[in-house]
Parts: sequence; C-alpha cells; structure tokens
Amino acid sequence: MSDRTWHSTSTAADYADCHPVTVLKACEAEELHGVQRKARGRWRIHVDCLDAWIKGQRCEHQKAGAA
Ligand SMILES: [Zn+2]
Repeated sequence: MSDRTWHSTSTAADYADCHPVTVLKACEAEELHGVQRKARGRWRIHVDCLDAWIKGQRCEHQKAGAA
C-alpha cells in the first residue's frame, strides 16, 4: 500500500510494474493522463489516473474531456 498521490514516471512504473519508458510513452500518447508543469518537463501522474490506466480504463479527467 502506498500513500503517494503523485507519481513521477519512475515511481509510476514501479507502481504499475512496468518500464518507465512505457509510462512515458503512454503519457505522450495521452493514453495515460499525465501533467507537466512546462512543455518537455517532468511528467507527474496522479495515482487515480494511474490506477485507471493499469486497468485499461480512462481516468475521470479523460472521461470528462471526452464528454
Ligand atoms: Zn486524470
């Protein structure tokens, strides 16, 4: 169990049990909802968004954006 709310690509990869590059590519493809403070900056991924991605679902923000 983790009390982390925000993940970096490396901690997200650890959490999702995949490679950090997989997380990075998913963020860039907008498959996984990640945020950047500035263009080309470090990605931050909210744990709720990460949970949705692990389950192959869209997070609440993506659903809201698509509606
Ligand atoms: Zn989200």
